[in-house]
Amino acid sequence: MRYMRFKIALIGSFAFGIGCQDQGHFTPDMATDLSQSGDRILDGDPLPRPPTDHPALPLLTSTSGRIVANMKAHLVVWPDYPDIAERAREFMQWMLQSEYWTDTLGEYGVGPGSLEQLITLSSAPPTELSDSMIQSMLAKMVEGGQIPIDDNTVVFFLTSPASTVRFQGDVGCGAFGGYHWETTVGTSRVSYAVIVQCGTADPDPFDAISTTISHEASEVATDPRPSSASSWHNVDTGLEISDLCQLLPIRLTATVPGADAGTKDVTYQVTRNYSNRAARQGDEDPCKPVSPSAPPYYGVALDPLVIDIARDENFEGKFIAEIKPYAFGEVGPIEWRILQTSGGLSFDPDRGVNNPGDTVRVVVNVNPSLPSSAQLLYVVGRSEAGGRSVWAGAARY
Ligand SMILES: [Zn+2]
Repeated sequence: MRYMRFKIALIGSFAFGIGCQDQGHFTPDMATDLSQSGDRILDGDPLPRPPTDHPALPLLTSTSGRIVANMKAHLVVWPDYPDIAERAREFMQWMLQSEYWTDTLGEYGVGPGSLEQLITLSSAPPTELSDSMIQSMLAKMVEGGQIPIDDNTVVFFLTSPASTVRFQGDVGCGAFGGYHWETTVGTSRVSYAVIVQCGTADPDPFDAISTTISHEASEVATDPRPSSASSWHNVDTGLEISDLCQLLPIRLTATVPGADAGTKDVTYQVTRNYSNRAARQGDEDPCKPVSPSAPPYYGVALDPLVIDIARDENFEGKFIAEIKPYAFGEVGPIEWRILQTSGGLSFDPDRGVNNPGDTVRVVVNVNPSLPSSAQLLYVVGRSEAGGRSVWAGAARY
């Protein structure tokens, strides 16, 4: 079973008022081996849990161990949005040298990087921009000597709002906000990322751009060749380092070069990144950095992480899962909701307000017309103490 994990998807807003969601995506070959799944029948009432109890948090693993240790980023833009391009250049220059970057990626071996150059193309943006067009542009720039290649090279394409971006059958801003992938030029393998301007973040559309750039950059750094040399990701869900913290961006203050050789302070919205160290420890927020004003760490677990729903001869299937809110301090009741990413499942209940230590049984039914497949599930939580939590699981059916 294999999940496609290099695309950021956008599926709109939900009740908690979070505007922009990105998610992993599943390949068509994911729904295999359903025969091994089975209904789970739970007898009796759930046992009481300590408020801090939760199932083991997901971990990232790597088989190849490949990373981009000191990224040399090249940013390619079209000529019709020079102000955004300049802000993106400034942002990436800051990000790759920042404590944000080294603090959240250092445990995977990633160190500081640099923005090598901004390349502004002279041609007008195409109406349709496919991944193969991106790859051939990239090949031309490498073969023409404009982009020197080594293992640290990563090429970012920030596409024009005038272009409809397509990747593996999906459309940019409809199904995804960006992706990272790899290609071969000559004898070299080259990692690249595509950032789509979807302008969904309010009040500043650059928030969506900086969040997507930081997301794709962090994931390229820790999983640069997802096709040929798979590296850091969660094997159960296919999610990468930023996917596991999606919906939880943070705003950071950055000091960047300003006028007259001075500096200026700006704020950037960026993705948070998943820490295996914190996840193993289990009692601190694994999504880094954590805001200094954040409440005690809390979350709402889906147990099990992956729900395997067996289908009967009528293609019906049912599973009883458990929702387990937890907190490492006083946060009050936690409001939670289960989000499915492609639909066709029903959850009873699909939301609630519960105290840490409660266990809620959830009956999951699959629509008989839903083909065998898999999708990501997110349990989002929030408490009056502030902040929010995301638990990323999956269902196979
Ligand atoms: Zn991602």
